[in-house]
This record gives sequence, C-alpha cells and structure tokens, in this order.
Amino acid sequence: MAGIYLHIPFCKQKCHYCNFFSIASLKQKPDFLNALKREIAIQKAYLKNEGVQTIYFGGGTPSMLEKAELNSIMEELHKHYNIQPDVEITLEANPDDLSREKLKIFAQSAINRLSIGIQSFFDDDLNYLNRVHSADHAKTVIDNALDAGFENLTIDLIYGIPTLTDKKWQQNIDYFLASGIKHLSAYALTVEPRTALAHLINKGKLKAVDEQQSVRHFEMLMQSMEAAGFVHYEISNFAKPGHYSKHNSLYWIGGNYLGLGPSAHSYNGISRQWNVSHLTKYINEAGQSESVFEKEELTLDQRYDEYVMTSLRTSWGCDLEHIQNAFGKRYSQYCLSQAQAFLREAKIEQRENRLFLTQKGKLFADGIAAELFID
Ligand code: SF4
Repeated sequence: MAGIYLHIPFCKQKCHYCNFFSIASLKQKPDFLNALKREIAIQKAYLKNEGVQTIYFGGGTPSMLEKAELNSIMEELHKHYNIQPDVEITLEANPDDLSREKLKIFAQSAINRLSIGIQSFFDDDLNYLNRVHSADHAKTVIDNALDAGFENLTIDLIYGIPTLTDKKWQQNIDYFLASGIKHLSAYALTVEPRTALAHLINKGKLKAVDEQQSVRHFEMLMQSMEAAGFVHYEISNFAKPGHYSKHNSLYWIGGNYLGLGPSAHSYNGISRQWNVSHLTKYINEAGQSESVFEKEELTLDQRYDEYVMTSLRTSWGCDLEHIQNAFGKRYSQYCLSQAQAFLREAKIEQRENRLFLTQKGKLFADGIAAELFID
C-alpha cells in the first residue's frame, strides 16, 4: 500500500506559529498547477505501480483550490498511478474557505475525507494564533460539513495556547465530543524558530508558552478522549475504532509515499527525498530537472531510528520482532536494553514482543524515543 501527498502552498495569511512552507498570495497558482502536473507525470516511477490507497491534499491551504483545479489534479493522478477503488482522499481545509456551497462541491467531488483546521472554539485563542476565521464560523462549518454528508471528518485543535485556560480547553474538548466527529488531531502549541510567534514572544508582544500548561492540557485530553471511547492511536491523534486516518497510518507503519509540490517529502523504505521549499524554483524546475529535490539514502541505523520514533508514538507499539527481522538481532537487543530504565519508571510497558508508551510515557515521547536511537 502506498500514499501520495500533494502540497498546495497557498494561504490567506500566515498564522503566527506556522513553519510550513506557504505563500500568502495566489498570483502563482496557475503556474504552480502546471508544474504540479508535470511533477505528477514525471514521478510516476517512484511508486513502481504500487497500489495507491491514500491521497492527501495538504499545505498550505488546499481548500483554496477550485473544483476544476482539484478535478484536473485528480485526473492527472489517475492517468499515471495505480489508484485503488477504495482510496482515501483527504483535503485539508480552513473554515474561512468553507461556505455551504463549497462544502457541497467538495462532498460531490472525489474528496472523501475532510480535515478542518479549527484550532480553538474561542476567538481570543484564534487571535493569538493569527487565524483568519472566527470561533462562531468554525462551529457553523462543522454543522455544515456534517450536513453536506462528510462522515469521514476530522478536525485539528491546538492546546497550550497562553490564552487557553484549562476551563476553556475542557470546553473545546467537550464541544468536539458533542459534535459526533469521530477523529481528532490535537497538537501542543510549539514555538518554532523564525516564526512570527517566536519573534512576537521575544519582543514581549505575545505571552510566552508555558510547558506545564501544555502538559496539563495533554493529560486532560487523554482522560476525556479515553472516557469517550476514542482510541489514542498516535500521540496527537484520537479516533473511534475504524476511523483512523489511512494516510497518516501509512507514515507511521513505514509505508511508501510520494510527496509532490514544494517542500513535500517522499519515502520508499530505502531513501527519502524532499522538494525545494521555494515556489518560483519549484515552478521552473518541477518535472524538468532533478535539482527540484534533494535525496538521502538511509543507513540501516537511520531506518531503525525512524522506525523506533514513529512506532513508539502509536498504539501498535514498537515491535521487537520486526526490528530483529528488518534490522538484525543486535538492534532488537539494543532497543530492549535502552528501554529498561523506562520500563522501571513505568514510562514504557512491554506486552509480548512490543514496547508501548504508558500514559506517563506519552508526556515524554520524543525524549524516550531519542534514548532508544542508535545513531
Ligand atoms: S493555514 Fe496552515 S499552512 Fe497556512 S499559515 Fe496557517 S498553519 Fe500555516
């Protein structure tokens, strides 16, 4: 099973915390679409005709695409790839693009999963983040998306925002749970270097992020979601059984994927490559020159590290037998010996041949994975 990711690099305005590659102007959209179609055609060998079970329009803001543009991208994909009949096709959307009309158009298109960037149901949090939409509109959009027939719906929320009190965060979780949506991605607000957020905090214009608040919010989230019958199937993702994201699951189980568009990453089990994060360069070179991407062959150590990092974050856990088969006994023994301290501290638990993060361990996921790395 393979996946395709398409990076649509346009946004109405830049959110303060954002470090994704995106441009707040649509001037180059026609040229970008031509370049994307060239890249779709030229990269077809990458997936070796493997069945494509997931297609993900990410960004940026893919909901800024018009119906005809989406259709023409899909046509091009069908022309060159082995798209499976039950393919999951996700589109990331921002509430401000989702009028009732546009939702209907998307519902009648090939898109069968919608991921809406809500982030919070409170205006002061949205202002802090510099989001375009209002809290009221976010709520209306959820109702309209469900009305339009999007059963496979997910939203993003952000916690740890300095304006988001514990009480408001619980209200956000409760609002989500009452909506009947079966998938949630929730992320801690992180201050990435060279973002507007980092700059504004440094200048004292915005309140700094408090790590303890994020930890509290994450604990509240885990408790509420578990009580409501959601599976915490990846550190930032919760779903009712049967509603996991196929696309993201593919990343986490180490499946092959092709990334198209500026800054998109690809992985085929042996190497990874990433496209240039520059729109004009992408437009000029995509489909015509290999200089549009950089490529790195992964060593066995790197592939082991990658597996540990992704698998440990999931409810499937880190499979020692898989490590032994894929990388050799030395690696599985190393992994288990490095895990001993965390097993003693009850941050990791072992069930049969798999290692899992406990609730306590999930608070330190990145640090624990780093200790199990070999490289
Ligand atoms: S909408 Fe998403 S990609 Fe665009 S600026 Fe905001 S966070 Fe970044």
